[in-house]
Amino acid sequence: MGAVQIVTTCVAAAITIVAAVLVVRTVRRMLAVIRLGQPDPTRSDNRALRLRTMLKETLGHTRMLRWTVVGAAHWFVMIAFMALSLLVLEAYFEVVKPGLGLPLIGAWNIYGLVTEWIGVLGFVGILVLMGIRLRNRPGNAERRSRFQGSTMWQAYYVEYTILGVLLCGFFIRGFKAANDELEWPTWAAPVSHALGSVLPAWPAAVSLVAMVKIIISMAWVIVIASNVTMGVAWHRFLAFFNIFFKRTPGRAGSGLGALRPMTSQGKPLDFEEADPDKDQFGVATVEQFSWKGMLDFTTCTECGRCQSQCPAWNTGKPLSPKLLILNLRDHAYAKAPYLLAPTEDLSHVDALALAEKERPLIGTAEENGIIDPDVLWSCTTCGACVEQCPVDIEHVDHIVDMRRYQVLIESNFPTEAGVMLRNLENKGNPWGAAQSTRDDWTKGLDFEVPNVASLEEGDFDYLFWVGCAGAFEDRAKKTTRAVATLLNEAGVKFAILGQGETCTGDPARRIGNEFVFQMLAQQNVETLNEAGVKKIVATCPHCFNTLSNEYGQLGGHYEVIHHTQLLAQLVAAGKLTPVQPLDGAVTYHDPCYLGRHNRVFAPPREVLGAVAGPADDNKGLVEMDRFAERSFCCGAGGARMWMEERIGKRINVERVEEALSTGAKTVAVACPFCLTMLGDGVTGKKAAGAAPEEVEVVDVASVLLRAVQK
Ligand code: SF4
Ligand code: SF4
Repeated sequence: MGAVQIVTTCVAAAITIVAAVLVVRTVRRMLAVIRLGQPDPTRSDNRALRLRTMLKETLGHTRMLRWTVVGAAHWFVMIAFMALSLLVLEAYFEVVKPGLGLPLIGAWNIYGLVTEWIGVLGFVGILVLMGIRLRNRPGNAERRSRFQGSTMWQAYYVEYTILGVLLCGFFIRGFKAANDELEWPTWAAPVSHALGSVLPAWPAAVSLVAMVKIIISMAWVIVIASNVTMGVAWHRFLAFFNIFFKRTPGRAGSGLGALRPMTSQGKPLDFEEADPDKDQFGVATVEQFSWKGMLDFTTCTECGRCQSQCPAWNTGKPLSPKLLILNLRDHAYAKAPYLLAPTEDLSHVDALALAEKERPLIGTAEENGIIDPDVLWSCTTCGACVEQCPVDIEHVDHIVDMRRYQVLIESNFPTEAGVMLRNLENKGNPWGAAQSTRDDWTKGLDFEVPNVASLEEGDFDYLFWVGCAGAFEDRAKKTTRAVATLLNEAGVKFAILGQGETCTGDPARRIGNEFVFQMLAQQNVETLNEAGVKKIVATCPHCFNTLSNEYGQLGGHYEVIHHTQLLAQLVAAGKLTPVQPLDGAVTYHDPCYLGRHNRVFAPPREVLGAVAGPADDNKGLVEMDRFAERSFCCGAGGARMWMEERIGKRINVERVEEALSTGAKTVAVACPFCLTMLGDGVTGKKAAGAAPEEVEVVDVASVLLRAVQK
């Protein structure tokens, strides 16, 4: 070993030992913080499916590739990062002796070829990602940057590290080629040979560059070991675990559809037995999140995809799902020394941790809160954040868990929503309408709508779940009547519960009042089971979601279909035939709880397509910029329908402007809340002279009914 190699070997060994010690210490700390979370025994069932999903989402990049350019560039960088680990290992041989390579596979031409091209594509990939980050850096983008609030130096540092390591790899190979020591022929390592042809022969250079490569790599390890909250780096290791343990393996957006039932110490909370002094009611402090919540916070990459899609953030509200997760993460790690200290001796706990423990989880800036109440209550639970998150963070669950404590224990929520909750408890619907008027919508129909109470089990195919909006709200009642008329026309045997129906409990559950939700849900499950209901058709996506995904938690198992799905089947079967052409183009607004939460995207479009025909010169179905998975909320979900929208631009106005920009005369919806929100938005625009008078907002069922009537 020459003098140069003695120096390079000693430097590489020293920095590696420091990095290894630090990283072991940090991983232990990270695990200790994650373990502070509450037990959650539901995360390790179905391991084969979990493993398949994890491999598909990581190695296949199925979610990242929804953003094609970023996804492809990130895939190459990920593969390059994995290969880099081998190449860094190779450098440990090269600091000892320039001609050495990896044992067994190092001299193999295929190894040289594969790593050469992974290096090239990784190099291109990282340049693309750096360009995208620079173009979208906060303060430089026309729209609010998805990176606003992200720790930019950390991302730049990670990117320059990868770039530096890749460059070192090529220079090592280039110098080997110049020294005539490269193991592989030109066809296997063309870039390295080309570089070697312009580099001087310099035997010591290989060990020196290998040492630089190890220094860059180990410096990165030391930096991330010193920054346990550096998600942009740690996600490279944590994403595999976070995806493996997601709530619903096998589906794209984990944490969509059903909400998690309330739990205390990992067990379902039974309200009849629960004791507020002993049991956990939602989340009051950061350590009351489950361990998976803690893993979520730690894994966030700060990519800002969630933020870029959030309707609250995009209309000037203080809520950003990314910043919410980052605030919880920073708080958890800052408070951890206190939580991990033996309770009888706090003398060694640093002052920051002791100060952090005094901060309320929910509180204004004056109260030194972690999450501002305006952040908590701005969420529409639309699920856009969950849908977009490449590492399967479950934002909506965390938000609702915090709401649960505020509502059930603190009684601290927007006052106007209190009326809705009282109406649910006393009248069984959010509007406070008299239950005796629930089936008034049937008056004037030229056919009878039977009540299940008057039928034998098996006399009806579908229970038509009308929903509170469908029964009491004037615009939604038109949809209800249209659906009933169409089903009758198509010969579908259906019946209603009439006054036996109450609210499904969706708004109570989304605002955090699990007690009222359970009360209503249990009543409905009892009624449905007694009536022998097997199949349900619902017009409201919120009812649809609750009936199909949440009632199972309470013993109600039904086959639930949305009216647009049933209508699409009836049109396809020739039982409903559109004969009247639609005047002008139609655009379709995907309701969050039908689309993203339940992945029903095609059926409403099939119905509209059958009526309107293909898009062509101000005719047919035209899409808005944001549609299907990336659809933009109307602003009413998450019980926001019953809260004032005081901050920023109104969400429904933002959506209506997008709909109007398509030039469509008909804005079709498939949800009574969307009907109200977009209807109000269009009315406002018309009053301001900003929308043509002929534009109307109607349900898909109403569009079809007009088309089938001769
Ligand atoms: S659920 Fe929707 S509104 Fe709530 S944080 Fe996520 S994107 Fe924003
Ligand atoms: S999309 Fe997921 S990983 Fe990206 S910033 Fe949001 S929460 Fe973090």
